[in-house]
Amino acid sequence: MGDVNRFAMNQITAGPTWGFAESLTRYHALGIRGVGVARERLLEYGLEAGARLLRDQGMSVASYCFGGLFADATGLRLNERVDDFRRMLDEGAAIGAASVVFLAGGLPDGSVDLAGAQERALEGLSRVIPHARDTGMTIGLEPLHPSTCAFRSVLVTTGQAMDWIEQLDNAPELSIVFDVYATWWDPNLEASLARANGRLSAYHLSDWLRDTQDPRLDRGMLGDGCIDVRSITRWVEATGFSGFHELEILSERNWWRRDPSEAAATGLERYEALV
Ligand code: ZN
Repeated sequence: MGDVNRFAMNQITAGPTWGFAESLTRYHALGIRGVGVARERLLEYGLEAGARLLRDQGMSVASYCFGGLFADATGLRLNERVDDFRRMLDEGAAIGAASVVFLAGGLPDGSVDLAGAQERALEGLSRVIPHARDTGMTIGLEPLHPSTCAFRSVLVTTGQAMDWIEQLDNAPELSIVFDVYATWWDPNLEASLARANGRLSAYHLSDWLRDTQDPRLDRGMLGDGCIDVRSITRWVEATGFSGFHELEILSERNWWRRDPSEAAATGLERYEALV
């Protein structure tokens, strides 16, 4: 049975209704002590004030979302994104985040050079690793579902994330943000997770709806779809992961249209019953 002490809410799940402070207060009132912080909400509220509020409420930051997008950035834009990710590592350190979430980015407009896009992501990563070391932060590589490869993430499986980490000399500053929504379909999932032993820094939960209408923004509530969350959680825990189980639902069709308290309360209830 899911333990509330391991449960976290990602602020994105609240949709546009709640800002940084309101989501913290509301989640805290439900007994939740972990939060996935959305960068734009934190910066809108103010980094220092946000860090203070997290401390005052005793909330831990399960993950800090998100930066990177190096793969589709060419020339000077890649430099800008690298600099921006370094700033994000500073921010992550200020709020004590378990990891700063890295999304690879897709292909540049008009490009068919998938290998080149992947190389740019790796090159950018090699440039931010020293700053992760200096700030004591870990960079969490988050593979996304392959349907997002063109525009969002050329990193699509857990095995590929491990390949990248190996290509970057197994830098201890690199970890994996494992999201069931992105990875549940992978026939090699159990073996890839075994290979990722000791490398997971965050765990994102939601469900894949059979009739999904959008692979990015139509995520389902735990228990409403076809992901075997209990088995996958067992494999995740077998890697030695002991962090938060974080509910992250992007849902234009359903949850973002409702009172965000409902997603939090239902999520916690389902988590306790299903995970
Ligand atoms: Zn995620």
